[in-house]
Amino acid sequence: MEQQQIDIDWTACQGHGLCAELLPDHITLDEWGYPLVAGTAIPARTVKRARQAASDCPVLALKLRTTGAPL
Ligand code: SF4
Repeated sequence: MEQQQIDIDWTACQGHGLCAELLPDHITLDEWGYPLVAGTAIPARTVKRARQAASDCPVLALKLRTTGAPL
C-alpha cells in the first residue's frame, strides 16, 4: 500500500519550527529548533495537513515522499 513519509532537506531547513506546530504528532524540535521526524508513515487522515505543512515551510525544506507500491 502506498504511504507518505516526511523528508527534510537539511541543506535548506533553517529551523523555523513551523512544521512541528502544524504536525505535532510527527515532528518535534531539538534543542536548537530543528525538526526531529518520527519517521513513521503519515496516516491518510493527516496527509492533507502534512501537504499544507510542506507548502507552508518558509524555505520549502519539508517534503512528502511516497513509499510502498500502489495496490
Ligand atoms: S518549517 Fe521548514 S525550515 Fe522550519 S523547521 Fe520545519 S522544515 Fe525546517
